[in-house]
Amino acid sequence: MTTPASDYHTAADTVNPGGLRLDDVTLTLGDGDAAVTALDHVVLSVAPGEFVAVVGPSGSGKSSLLAVAGGLQRPSSGTVHIAGTELTALPDKERTAARRRHIGFVFQQSNLLASLTVLEQLLLPLHIDGRLDAAARARAVELVEAVGLAHRAASRPHQLSGGERQRAGLARALMTSPAVLLVDEPTSALDRVRSAEAVRLIAEQTHERGTATVMVTHDTAIMDVADRVHEMVDGRLS
Ligand code: ADP
Ligand code: MG
Repeated sequence: MTTPASDYHTAADTVNPGGLRLDDVTLTLGDGDAAVTALDHVVLSVAPGEFVAVVGPSGSGKSSLLAVAGGLQRPSSGTVHIAGTELTALPDKERTAARRRHIGFVFQQSNLLASLTVLEQLLLPLHIDGRLDAAARARAVELVEAVGLAHRAASRPHQLSGGERQRAGLARALMTSPAVLLVDEPTSALDRVRSAEAVRLIAEQTHERGTATVMVTHDTAIMDVADRVHEMVDGRLS
């Protein structure tokens, strides 16, 4: 990033300098009669180490919220701050760099590469970046252990259960020590017991590692584990 970090700070940043903040975010998808307000003046602030759940029915805008929060999609209006940087003010290339540096995604599908072992999934991004050193390897081993996959470190995705694939995806997302962790519907592929385990694991990692975590789901069972629960209805967050 060539612009000094201080240029991205505003007075409001002091409220939540390390986490995630969405201010008055609106996202309109499609044109004309087909236009949909996926996000409607959304305000959300998540502090480091805080686990926020967003529950809401299918089509209410949950995935859109994560896409905008994570810089995958520009909002139609409003601002997104990540770790003190205004993501929405950055040109595409710098936004992509900020996303890689500060944000971990756990998607519905784990998007693991079929030919790589669990450990290799974690190491690949660093390998591509030319940053694969002993410290990175040690961190990968530690994370694979933290998500309970030490015995699966050398397994490939087809040898794993759905829950194990999801835990591998979580470990991979944590590999860059992201300031912000965004999780989409982690429970959909799992039975109730396993999904409760996955949610507890995400909460534990959030508190231990100080990530600002947002998890969206239609499963209201998450309410017991989250620090805060918001409800999304028709693109509005309450
Ligand atoms: P959720 O994740 O809660 O199911 P989404 O964020 O995926 O909701 O979708 C929010 C709304 O935006 C829905 O009405 C959906 O149909 C609409 N939508 C999602 N993606 C697009 C798109 N690419 N073009 C037009 N409408 C879309
Ligand atoms: Mg969705």
